[in-house]
Amino acid sequence: MKLTDFQEAFPDDTACMRFLEETVWVNGRHCPECGCLNTVPLGGKAAERHLYHCRDCHKQFTVTSGTWLHSRKLPLTKYFEILYYSVNSSFGMASTRISEWTGVSQKSVWKILQAFRELQGFWLTLTDKLTNTVEFDTKYVGGQPRKQKDAEGNRVKNKRGRGTKKQAVFVAAERQGEVRATVVPNEAEDTIRPLAEAQVDPQAHIMSDGDGTFAKIARSFALQSQCSHRDWDFSKDGVHNNTAESFNSWVEHMRDVHFFVSKDHMQRYVNDVMTRWNLRVAVEREVTQKGQRVRKILMEKMPLLDRLRVIFGHAVGCNVRRNRKTGGIMVVA
Ligand SMILES: [Zn+2]
Repeated sequence: MKLTDFQEAFPDDTACMRFLEETVWVNGRHCPECGCLNTVPLGGKAAERHLYHCRDCHKQFTVTSGTWLHSRKLPLTKYFEILYYSVNSSFGMASTRISEWTGVSQKSVWKILQAFRELQGFWLTLTDKLTNTVEFDTKYVGGQPRKQKDAEGNRVKNKRGRGTKKQAVFVAAERQGEVRATVVPNEAEDTIRPLAEAQVDPQAHIMSDGDGTFAKIARSFALQSQCSHRDWDFSKDGVHNNTAESFNSWVEHMRDVHFFVSKDHMQRYVNDVMTRWNLRVAVEREVTQKGQRVRKILMEKMPLLDRLRVIFGHAVGCNVRRNRKTGGIMVVA
């Protein structure tokens, strides 16, 4: 979606409020306090503020009451503009860049985007599980360690992946489906198993690389297959974990945009990548493959407004508050 089209669709706060009302109140306008549908719009000046009155508990509310967009200092159009830049780009955009383009301070942009990323974590709370073929993998996020020398002055070869200080992310990816990516403190069976069982249907066919932990966990599911990357086996008879690997490369791309991602904020940035991945639709297209025209199913981005609708729709009843103890932010349901 072009920026001019977006600005035309959301010229003022009223348009933004209308969009939120249509998205959040799909099943009818309800009071955030008591949840009842017995509500009426207020007239006069209050109508300009999009205020409604609950006939049951006699409270007044708007569509943003009790959400992260409540008691904001910036106009809603600015929020939408910031989200446009972030959501519409392929792998996100740095808060410094968005700050330059929108005229909002970098600190505010960063805070708004962090709250938005925190909300995108709803994927991990969904109860509908991944089915059919599900691929497991672990992604290690972090930069190259500094060059080191041993006692004799020889260059030490750095280890890769497991056993390094990098942050581990457990990835469960359904083929032509959604992904669940969770930042984990370690890759032990006790850590991964509860996540796998909560996120994946027991009837699923699990595919993974030669990892021993995944092999043990996969036994609890209907079917399991492994391909040993150590033996240079990356795909045989449809057994591979290339879907999970390509999600991992998306996570890697994120680091081209956000040069430094601390471990404390890692899950939020992973949420962002997860949302980009999950909000795609399968489309059949004609493509050229080895000189021949063939029809293929490709995954394409959903239209921008539809993506915003899904994210806002799931954010109903979620409030992001500053956590005084840690100074960070958290979602209050
Ligand atoms: Zn009420």
